[in-house]
Amino acid sequence: MDHHVRRRALAARLDDLSVDALLVTRLLHTRYLTGFTGSNGQVLVRPDAAIFMTDGRYTEQSRREVPDMERVTYANPLREELGAMLEGVRRLGFEADEMTVAARDRLAAALGDGVKLVPTTEVVEKLRETKDDDERAAIRQAQAITDAAFEQILDRFAIGVTEQQIARQLETLMLDEGAEGLAFDSIVAFGENAAEPHHEPGHRTLEEGDVIKMDFGARFDGYHADFTRTVAFGSPASELKKIHDIVRESQQAGIDAVRAGVVGKEVDAVSRAVIERAGYGDRFVHSLGHGVGLEIHEGPNFARTVDDPIPAGAVMTVEPGIYIPGLGGVRIEDMVEVTEDGCAVVGTSTRDLIEL
Ligand code: ZN
Ligand code: ZN
Repeated sequence: MDHHVRRRALAARLDDLSVDALLVTRLLHTRYLTGFTGSNGQVLVRPDAAIFMTDGRYTEQSRREVPDMERVTYANPLREELGAMLEGVRRLGFEADEMTVAARDRLAAALGDGVKLVPTTEVVEKLRETKDDDERAAIRQAQAITDAAFEQILDRFAIGVTEQQIARQLETLMLDEGAEGLAFDSIVAFGENAAEPHHEPGHRTLEEGDVIKMDFGARFDGYHADFTRTVAFGSPASELKKIHDIVRESQQAGIDAVRAGVVGKEVDAVSRAVIERAGYGDRFVHSLGHGVGLEIHEGPNFARTVDDPIPAGAVMTVEPGIYIPGLGGVRIEDMVEVTEDGCAVVGTSTRDLIEL
């Protein structure tokens, strides 16, 4: 793992942030920067070096997981010992999205007047948008597990099975295929329930002609997969077939529009235009997609309000949907890896309508 490359990239940002050092307190970011998977760890990043900090429970674990850094085990609250590590630091950045106001005040009191605390936002988050080879490999493996579970769940549908039973079976299939856990609580929606974008699986039993919408994913090495397919049990209402065709075309248009440097709202607009032209614009009630990585939802985003360009190396979902109350709904979701001149779909499952 190239954690030191990530730390160097972060250190290179310190000048722009007008800080002498950055205190990283978000645990997910500590993992990203060091590989540490325990429940308490911080990183102090200076221009020329970084220090990993944890408490006595994790001295041994960090020796193994963070072999390439200076490590400090602290006994007192970190704020009491941090001052000793801040020689020459006048301006100390901190993660304002993570630290509470009370913690900031306590830290300021402990450090005294010599060190000014400087709030920062979206610093490590921005670095995380571009995935390196290790991260892409973990996401691909999470999706391979998800694809395998999807293929196997298709044999499990029968009249009378419930949404909850299918959701549980998906979970078991993913764990059996090597997932370390679920990326998120699986969405399984039968028939009219598919009109809810984020339906919680219940006791609804499967009937002939239902659509089955499943949004689920595996987690592997901390990285997530996010995947949706809508299949049919028997022959669905003709409008649902038509909607599936439209959503599929919309998704393809979105995928075709993805490349490094494209602005988030452009991709959303291209995909949304297909649905609007078909007369269902008001039934596409969410944005087109989001970044996926150590979190199931992270930046960047394909959404109507996003003016930011998408970087090469981002892994994004493209997930248009049409939802019709009382009838049902269709969403198709795949993750794509953004490249300089386009993108590559991560999964291998068919996007054609499967009629079971
Ligand atoms: Zn999803
Ligand atoms: Zn998603």
